[in-house]
Amino acid sequence: MQIFYTEWSISSIVSIMENVVFYLKEYLYYVLIGWVVIYFLMRRFVDPPASRYKAVIYQTLIIFVLFSSALIIYDRGLASQWIWLPLIISSVVMYYFRNHFFPYSGVCKNCGEKLTTKEIFTQEICQKCKSKD
Ligand SMILES: [Zn+2]
Repeated sequence: MQIFYTEWSISSIVSIMENVVFYLKEYLYYVLIGWVVIYFLMRRFVDPPASRYKAVIYQTLIIFVLFSSALIIYDRGLASQWIWLPLIISSVVMYYFRNHFFPYSGVCKNCGEKLTTKEIFTQEICQKCKSKD
């Protein structure tokens, strides 16, 4: 009975991981395109400080790594558990370089005033401090 239970749980984990690989390869492509479009729109229309557009580049690289590894695992028919490798590596990298991947802050760097949602993703300082410069 115990063996039966163990086999069932392992096979369900395998099928969950197969679904994870499938959805990553199926939909991360569009996320990747979206992030690249966001980058070019940002550079064209907003002209953010370097930390903000570099963050988008780094995020795009992580998305690309996850997408391409899911695609390779799916196309080559590798065991779906291999997806843990890029997931863990990218999580560690994102945590270690979290100031580069997620430089967003809710408050102005100079005066500590609250920023609007758009400013959080595109600016480091508020409008008042910007007009002073
Ligand atoms: Zn300010």
